[in-house]
Amino acid sequence: MNYDVIVIGGGASGMFAATIASARGKRVLILEKNKKLGEKLKISGGGRCNITNAEPDLRKYLARYEPNDKFLFSAFSEFSNLDTFEYFKELNLPLEIEANGRAFPYTRKAIDVFNVLEKELIKNDVEIVTNSPVTKFNHSKGVINSVISHGEEYFANSFILATGGLSHPETGSTGDGFVWLAELGHTISDPTPSIVPLAVADSWIKSLSGTSFENAKIIFFVDGAKSFVKKGKILCTHFGLSGPTILNSAKQVGELLHEGEVTATIDIFPELDHGTLEKKIISIFDENKNKMLKNIFSEIVPPGTASAISSLLSEIDFETKVHSVSKEDRKKMVKMLKELPVTITGLMGFDRAVVADGGVPLEEIDTKTFRSKKVSNLFVTGDLLHINRPSGGFSLQLCWTTGFIAGKNA
Ligand SMILES: Cc1cc2nc3c(=O)[nH]c(=O)nc-3n(C[C@H](O)[C@H](O)[C@H](O)COP(=O)(O)OP(=O)(O)OC[C@H]3O[C@@H](n4cnc5c(N)ncnc54)[C@H](O)[C@@H]3O)c2cc1C
Repeated sequence: MNYDVIVIGGGASGMFAATIASARGKRVLILEKNKKLGEKLKISGGGRCNITNAEPDLRKYLARYEPNDKFLFSAFSEFSNLDTFEYFKELNLPLEIEANGRAFPYTRKAIDVFNVLEKELIKNDVEIVTNSPVTKFNHSKGVINSVISHGEEYFANSFILATGGLSHPETGSTGDGFVWLAELGHTISDPTPSIVPLAVADSWIKSLSGTSFENAKIIFFVDGAKSFVKKGKILCTHFGLSGPTILNSAKQVGELLHEGEVTATIDIFPELDHGTLEKKIISIFDENKNKMLKNIFSEIVPPGTASAISSLLSEIDFETKVHSVSKEDRKKMVKMLKELPVTITGLMGFDRAVVADGGVPLEEIDTKTFRSKKVSNLFVTGDLLHINRPSGGFSLQLCWTTGFIAGKNA
């Protein structure tokens, strides 16, 4: 079984690389461990698929991959986030832009992204063998000759390794590629779950599972000393905190957890200073003077959060009439709403990570071709590369760009 190109792993980057290589007339085979291709792609963006980010300025866009931006300029000059818009438009799946440049297929369905890519593979006569985990590489003198799957030996001139990282291993990405790359002489930076929810100790957060603070400010502390601040949407879950603001804080929080005890405060009224918030509370009190505090507290806090937040104010008597609430208690209330307490116990694991960094450092890859500098006919794509990035479409875009360049050069 002889091919021009064998792609190992049929996820986002592998499918894309195979599409591009086959469009050049190459005879291409995809070997995929799962029953089906693209399982992670299908769950991306909660099934809506945040396929890329629309930032039009390439330098600003690439800054999101710091410190690796300098390695990516050439690749993105050939296939950038803006090319992704064109590419999918030509496949009759135009993209639409939401907040913060997040781009989605107009149908908001990840399965549609999968379907158009699969159609291209079929159109270009790419051979696809599923249920076929590659278990071995045969190589000598810095060249791969063949790979083995289920006792079959497959030969090719070039190999594209696209087996993904370690996040959500149930989708097939169990880190096999890291083991082979290490065997082939590459350094592998330890994978850590980098865009991942946070586990917390606080029962008030867990009791709000499913509730979001749409516009909040969170300040992180290590051993009581202020470390960094993020603003945006925060989602409470049954294990802790999630949502874009939290996911994009996780890497820094992971580092802080090595330094000491990590706590945080959440300000659910970031646009109001203490005085203005107190005035707002006074005006709600004035309209409800003779009502019980417990019955009007929900008018002060975001919907659905009154019970959880009042549980943090145990020193205030919520059974009292509003006109009897003391100034001191009112100030305690204001302070609490601007500093809801959180104790971070850790990062959630790979099973809940959107992206795990780690993998091959770009210093060991020729980033004009995505060819390994250790093995002359091996190309590496997608999550196997050690590139930090925020959420917002920046991971899938790496798959499209690295897949494009590898597919073009393999
Ligand atoms: C829940 C979730 C949501 C996400 N949402 C977004 C989003 O909205 N936007 C965004 O930009 N990014 C998102 N990401 C990240 C994005 O999905 C990944 O970066 C991307 O799918 C990685 O593609 P890949 O080709 O590198 O690897 P994968 O998609 O992981 O594919 C690897 C493939 O290789 C196969 N394989 C593994 N080992 C072997 C073997 N030994 N032999 C043969 N095949 C093998 C696997 O079965 C798998 O099919 C999300 C990730 C997760 C987990």
